[in-house]
Amino acid sequence: MRLNSKWNRRSFLGSVAIIAGSILAPRKLFSWNRGAAREPAPVSGFGRTGNPYEELGVTTVINCEGTMTMLGGSLPHPELESVMTMAGRHFVSIPELEVAAGKRIAEMLKLPEGYTTLVTSGAAAAMQSGLAGILTGGKEPLIQQLPDLAGMKSEVIIQKTHRNPFDHQLRSTGIKLIEIETRDQLRAAVNERTAMMHFTNFANAAGQIKVDEWPRLAKQYNLPCMNDAAADTPPVSHLWDYTNMGFDLVTFSGGKAIRGPQCAGLLIGRKDMVANALLNNSPHEDTLGRSQKVGKEEILGMVKALELFLAEDHEALAKEWQDRLEGISRELNRVPGVSTSFFVPDIANHVPHMSITWNADRISLTPEQASKLLRSSKPSIVIGSGEGRPGLAMNSFMLQPGEDKIVAAQLSRLMREHAV
Ligand SMILES: *Cc1c(COP(=O)(O)O)cnc(C)c1O
Repeated sequence: MRLNSKWNRRSFLGSVAIIAGSILAPRKLFSWNRGAAREPAPVSGFGRTGNPYEELGVTTVINCEGTMTMLGGSLPHPELESVMTMAGRHFVSIPELEVAAGKRIAEMLKLPEGYTTLVTSGAAAAMQSGLAGILTGGKEPLIQQLPDLAGMKSEVIIQKTHRNPFDHQLRSTGIKLIEIETRDQLRAAVNERTAMMHFTNFANAAGQIKVDEWPRLAKQYNLPCMNDAAADTPPVSHLWDYTNMGFDLVTFSGGKAIRGPQCAGLLIGRKDMVANALLNNSPHEDTLGRSQKVGKEEILGMVKALELFLAEDHEALAKEWQDRLEGISRELNRVPGVSTSFFVPDIANHVPHMSITWNADRISLTPEQASKLLRSSKPSIVIGSGEGRPGLAMNSFMLQPGEDKIVAAQLSRLMREHAV
């Protein structure tokens, strides 16, 4: 680091000689150089209070709902912020960086030979560019032509129960989704226009054809298949389980439980398909994916996030999340009429959750009212009525140290205030 800053300093002095008398004021040049010399930059003006959100008049919230993009996803590990800052200190070829980062991530995940990864701006972008790569095969005129599919395949098969708002990213390529329910309907749907078979991981239980059978059938019909597993870590093994099952492409969010940069995601898959996905994505200009720019900061941040995520003691974390909920539960159970129970969703946000219910004869408050009052309380708490269950439901894996105590106190105060 020392050497580096000396080198910077020397080349800086050299540049001063060259551009002496130029239009740039020396003071401006000097502050530019100071940025390169790795000193932490003091913040004046906007951000000086340490809470730029408050400076804008925007309330920060205590998040009991989990990794919701609407609330900012998740909070990155502090080490990640340092690496992302380092990323912002150099210029680099983005395609070269994408390939190198993708290869490093593939090694960390111990993916089989023939597979690599691509850092995208999110799982949604990974879905779109993965499919665009399949449709265009990396041919430039076809890439430029999307979403006009003339001369390309134009259908993607999906189980009816797997439709969800995120399949908009597939439709944005111009393809039509063909819904099926049974194996017979699948067989009948396959034709020369079929580009891909898509699977939505969280919908596994709802569909007749399960996650392990889908890639087997795709192989039988000689079709590529994709699995959208955006929110489906933990468990960490999901990062390699689906390629091992035979999926050609798998998508994950970087900014959910992996705690990567908020604007990052991962496309994991066969090398040729991943290479073609990149050709359909930013920084390449005449592409559908150009609007899904991912920066050098996010690319390096994602490598670091996965390194940290893989090294994490996931069992200890799950225990800590459960302990926090049990602490809140003990406090709430002291309020007459309130009871709690625990559950873990099978897939997506597969972490400890707690249901909070109360006897309506003793506490006069609907779950919707409770949720609203907590949202407008100080500090503001976001907690939803949960997952088709009565009462409120919460998880604790996005809580910051000490926030579990605040949640316990506010919730029990609210319940006592509405006792009848
Ligand atoms: C969150 C999510 C996405 C989108 O992921 P981003 O990383 O926010 O782009 C796609 N599919 C599912 C099922 C999700 O939960």
